[in-house]
Amino acid sequence: MELPFAESWKIKMIEPIRKSTRIEREQWLKDAYYNVFQLRAEQVYIDLITDSGTGAMSDSQWASLMIGDESYAGATSFFKMKEAINRITGFEYVLPTHQGRAAENVLFSCLVKEGDYIPGNSHFDTTKGHIESRKAFAVDCTIDEARDTQLELPFKGNVDIQKLEKVLIEHRNEIPFMIITITNNTAGGQPVSMQNMREVHQLAKKYNKPVLFDSARFAENAYFIKVREKGYENKTIKEICREMFSYADAMTMSAKKDAIVNMGGFIATNIQDWYEQAKVKGIIYEGYITYGGMNGRDMNALAVGLDENTEFENLETRIKQVEYLASQLDKFHIPYQRPAGGHAIFIDAPRMLPQVPKEEFPAQTLTVELYLEAGIRGCEIGYILADRDPVTRENRFDVNDFLRLAIPRRTYTNNHMDVIAVALKNVFDRRNDITRGVIIEWEAEIMRHFTVKLKKL
Ligand SMILES: *Cc1c(COP(=O)(O)O)cnc(C)c1O
Repeated sequence: MELPFAESWKIKMIEPIRKSTRIEREQWLKDAYYNVFQLRAEQVYIDLITDSGTGAMSDSQWASLMIGDESYAGATSFFKMKEAINRITGFEYVLPTHQGRAAENVLFSCLVKEGDYIPGNSHFDTTKGHIESRKAFAVDCTIDEARDTQLELPFKGNVDIQKLEKVLIEHRNEIPFMIITITNNTAGGQPVSMQNMREVHQLAKKYNKPVLFDSARFAENAYFIKVREKGYENKTIKEICREMFSYADAMTMSAKKDAIVNMGGFIATNIQDWYEQAKVKGIIYEGYITYGGMNGRDMNALAVGLDENTEFENLETRIKQVEYLASQLDKFHIPYQRPAGGHAIFIDAPRMLPQVPKEEFPAQTLTVELYLEAGIRGCEIGYILADRDPVTRENRFDVNDFLRLAIPRRTYTNNHMDVIAVALKNVFDRRNDITRGVIIEWEAEIMRHFTVKLKKL
């Protein structure tokens, strides 16, 4: 008999978590204005709000913390991190930042000006925020198929090459660069194929435009290329990463994702001029160029994490857990973005709660119901997160309305996945009784989901 699949690690340290009662949760959520970002962590039993900075570091990463070099300038920790980034991505110039959005802020301060257009597949919320706050436009050129949650495609995060070329023709002189987000978080953690990256790269060359990779989950993307794309089955993850980055001119990175650290990020590029410009902004916003908002110890852990998480076994353990949760949801016919994403399951909320009108935010309603049911905290990636249109100030309902269940790396067991699936089933079973959702009482002008105050109807 073939041995079943199991994790490629064992557990050395644990952190207790606590259950609560429904009555407690009702009060806590009311006090939090039905916004789960406003809850205290100890009010949460299983926390799936994000996989960002919430993973468990390995014993090697913890060991590396002890030999962090905290020198202000020229720390050995910076050079260890730089060496790992050079080797894994092929990018020569490396500028650390305290997290991914800081990398965006530093680079976009140099490159994005009012009236610019920045096409790509779906832009992540902070990326869109950093573009729109500069009065530029983020143009989503993701393939149309990504919108149909029930369609199974191996690379549902791809850029639609025709859509991209149309933007390139219409706004030829207003495009400083284009972005490919790997994996495509907003479309459901869906990967981008190597072929698609190659095609974008060719188009970029034709129009003489640089390509930026928003790389938070590049290693997960490489895993999907290895297991799904013809010709890559025998390549190592590190070989695949080198080829992927050969189709880009620069990357911004949230190291809180695929480098499995609690805090950190960077810009890496082969364009010397971009690096020179970014250094100036980096020093103002983040810190000197060999730490950029990071501790020496964190840079050490980042270097080790990048190496570990560009190994097949580690990625396989992670992504198989997400797939395991999906298989449990399938048993209960719960609708989600198919196939399962790399870092999360994205529940198709309007399908799951068909009675809740879109003006009452079905995915946020589902987020609330799941927390009340079992103390599980997901995150709305839908109509609220989409913010208002900067011109018309209307809600943007032309996006998918998802409840995202982000799975932290190396943190929960499959028993936790079973609890999540059953809690969702219980909500699904009550779907015909859930007829009203939530309305907004107060919101910020941009990135409103973090601080929005809601009322439950
Ligand atoms: C998380 C993330 C960012 C922003 O990074 P932070 O570290 O949270 O600032 C940017 N792009 C993508 C795709 C992300 O997932």
